[in-house]
Amino acid sequence: MLFETPITRLKEEYNDNRFYVKREDLLPFCFGGNKVRKAELFFGDLRSNNSDVVVTYGSSSSNHCRIIANMAALNNIKCYIISPEEGYEETYNSKMVGLFGASIVKTPLDCVADTIEKTMLDLKKRYTPYFIKGGGHGNLGTQAYVNAYEEILQYEKENNICFDYIFLASGTGTTQAGLIAGKIKNKNITQKIVGISIARKNPYGRQVIIDSLKEYFNSNINYESDVIFIDKYICEGYGEYNSDILGTIKDVLFFDGIALNATYTGKAFWGMKKYIEENGIKNKNILFLNTGGTPLFFDGLEALS
Ligand SMILES: *Cc1c(COP(=O)(O)O)cnc(C)c1O
Repeated sequence: MLFETPITRLKEEYNDNRFYVKREDLLPFCFGGNKVRKAELFFGDLRSNNSDVVVTYGSSSSNHCRIIANMAALNNIKCYIISPEEGYEETYNSKMVGLFGASIVKTPLDCVADTIEKTMLDLKKRYTPYFIKGGGHGNLGTQAYVNAYEEILQYEKENNICFDYIFLASGTGTTQAGLIAGKIKNKNITQKIVGISIARKNPYGRQVIIDSLKEYFNSNINYESDVIFIDKYICEGYGEYNSDILGTIKDVLFFDGIALNATYTGKAFWGMKKYIEENGIKNKNILFLNTGGTPLFFDGLEALS
């Protein structure tokens, strides 16, 4: 698959800042999103391992599981999805996972690790299963966003612009780790990459990103100063939102025609605006990475009106 998502300028300006969006939601596979870029690398690895089953982990609303289930169908291999039974609800993502013929293995949250291990052991008796961590976490997931960072650099060069900030919705932090790794590789010292946490709290959330960087560079350098992971705009947790987030989603939809969602991109876009206000950021070039999750926009459409 050939990737290169567009970067476009938004109409809105807050605090005299100029806003741009990189449209990872337009990645050309199954409604796009950052999980496509990651999954493409994991499936390349899966094929070179001659694996014939894929196993992964994710909730019923997981974009990752939608993408993995579709890629498994495309590669004509069986897909198992380990999913926590707590809070399970039908979403467009879970319906598509079913449509692609993936098997869902529901398990209590505190048994997830055991269930993954048991599923893998069972499958190994007859198959060569390949395991992908939840959200596409790991070096290949990081690499996917080092690649995306190269596209951002290319855009900067061609358009004679420097992004002072990159903002994004951060979950497992893999996407953010990839962008930061790209920034470090290119010695881009002044740029700040700000992850707006959609669920995890610090110090854990930040530490996972630092660990991803250490693993990626196979080094013991302390990357602490490179990692800005903001846990202030989580609301009550994963999937929780407030009326300001819905207002932000409507604004971006009405004025720029871009559909954000309350779980990830809408929450992060709102968090970005708050962060800019609270930190007095003015007159900068700001790139927002639209990490996708388009099916979640439709799950939340009713709440918008
Ligand atoms: C998974 C996901 C994220 C978070 O990505 P991480 O690499 O896990 O931090 C952000 N936005 C959307 C739409 C996602 O599906």
